[in-house]
Amino acid sequence: MAKLKINKNRCKGCLLCITYCPKGLLKKSQSLNKLGIQPVIFVAGRDSCIGCSFCAIICPECCIEIFK
Ligand code: SF4
Ligand code: SF4
Repeated sequence: MAKLKINKNRCKGCLLCITYCPKGLLKKSQSLNKLGIQPVIFVAGRDSCIGCSFCAIICPECCIEIFK
């Protein structure tokens, strides 16, 4: 199972990563970041992260790091 590190304070909330995650493991946070928007967070689901890196590649702000 891969692990994610998301820089929440750089996230601008475009939600591209949520759209591209094949496992549905990302969602909007209920709290605000330093930019005043709801950043994306990782959520534990029935499936675990497969480390495909789609979320990291698509992020225009380079907020997401994958550790395999
Ligand atoms: S690496 Fe792939 S499976 Fe894991 S959170 Fe990102 S898009 Fe989803
Ligand atoms: S793609 Fe990057 S900037 Fe866009 S919502 Fe996801 S983490 Fe935030």
